[in-house]
Amino acid sequence: MLQISCPWCGPRDELEFRCGGQSHIIRPDPPEAIDDVSWGKYLSEKINPRGEHLERWQHNAGCRRWFNVARDTVTHRIRATYHMTEAAPAFSADGVAP
Ligand SMILES: [Zn+2]
Repeated sequence: MLQISCPWCGPRDELEFRCGGQSHIIRPDPPEAIDDVSWGKYLSEKINPRGEHLERWQHNAGCRRWFNVARDTVTHRIRATYHMTEAAPAFSADGVAP
């Protein structure tokens, strides 16, 4: 079982969280100014990489806040958790935060 460190509550079991998919997706602004194809891509086209992935998670059974997780989709190793307003962490070529 994964241990996920909520930025507010600290480490907790994976069962307390739910994944909300890819993070750092920017909503088109204003949405009524873009065409239907672009809006459809915004809503449905998400990346599904093998390796480093930036995801949104909610501490569903705890503080209920959303935050970002940098997780390796192959090993499930969590490299960082950070607030929604923070930039994604930088990683070196071997995937380790400097
Ligand atoms: Zn929490």
